Amino acid sequence: MILSSTSHLQPTQWQRELADAINSPSELLTALDLLPRDLPDVDLAEPNPFPLRVPRYFAGLMRRGDAHDPLLAQVLPRRAEHLARDGFGRDPVGDLDALHDNAVLQKYGGRALAITTGACAVHCRYCFRRHFPYAEQTLIRQWQASLRTLRGLQDVHELILSGGDPLSLSDARLAHLLVEVGQVAQLTRLRIHTRLPVVLPSRVTADLCALLRETRLRVVIVIHVNHPNEITPQLGGALAQLQSAGCTLLNQSVLLKDINDDADTLMNLSESLFEVGVMPYYLHMLDPVAGAAHFDVDELQARTLLRRIRAGLPGYLVPHLVREVPGAASKVPVTP
Ligand SMILES: *Cc1c(COP(=O)(O)O)cnc(C)c1O
Ligand code: SF4
Repeated sequence: MILSSTSHLQPTQWQRELADAINSPSELLTALDLLPRDLPDVDLAEPNPFPLRVPRYFAGLMRRGDAHDPLLAQVLPRRAEHLARDGFGRDPVGDLDALHDNAVLQKYGGRALAITTGACAVHCRYCFRRHFPYAEQTLIRQWQASLRTLRGLQDVHELILSGGDPLSLSDARLAHLLVEVGQVAQLTRLRIHTRLPVVLPSRVTADLCALLRETRLRVVIVIHVNHPNEITPQLGGALAQLQSAGCTLLNQSVLLKDINDDADTLMNLSESLFEVGVMPYYLHMLDPVAGAAHFDVDELQARTLLRRIRAGLPGYLVPHLVREVPGAASKVPVTP
């Protein structure tokens, strides 16, 4: 992942917080009162090709002295990442084959996905795009070509901004992007896949909300929360602002071993999301990306979990358990 180029304007509060993110495993452990020997598998080696990155706000949600904290487990490099596992590769979901040009991907009917930037505020160790060649493939670099591609996709009514994290772009860049995308006649919806409100709620500024309110497109924001401990009053405040800007709010999670692979945690997650105005959308099976095999939950266990949460929650709070299969016409449901 690469950092977005800095703007010539004065950085805003969230940009300062982003620049101040923790980027060394030793520093994170110290901040949490942990010693390397508390985490025998921690990978302290630096530089790491996929370095640790976590905003101080998000690190502040981790429990001091708890080596098994579920938020820490999402971001801490492990030596297990170096172990090869059969079936786990560098392009696990066939993204490189689905690229129309260097930044627009279409796998499914009616919607297309644009890689806006390679930058993220947090580096999730299980990320399926951890090996994606972002340096060449981003919308910002290929903007005119990507717009031409989009104008030619007559059956595409929804554009998904993905990345990386689209909200790591400055408001000025997003404003420009929204104006040009709004001019693509056949588009009616804009979807933003982002983890930024969750790991850095200060990103949701009045300026951002104004941009989202102004576009003629219906805006859907899909946040990414895996564990109820990620849901805080700050996140609630950020989401309330997005909601008053007219955005529909959904959540996607990844089913992660020893993080959220139990029914109580998943039920608590759905209920806590609903409290802050977010509907559960997808619960993804882990994509088999090299370096993430230690997060894998097997399908039998996943089906059992789904059965349990279906029994314990209203249907509208049960996320769709899905797997991404290269070449399939949609995400593939995993059923009990
Ligand atoms: C996941 C994904 C989508 C979105 O799929 P939905 O089922 O509509 O949420 C769209 N395009 C690509 C390339 C994707 O990977
Ligand atoms: S925020 Fe999303 S794209 Fe970025 S590292 Fe995490 S999972 Fe990957």
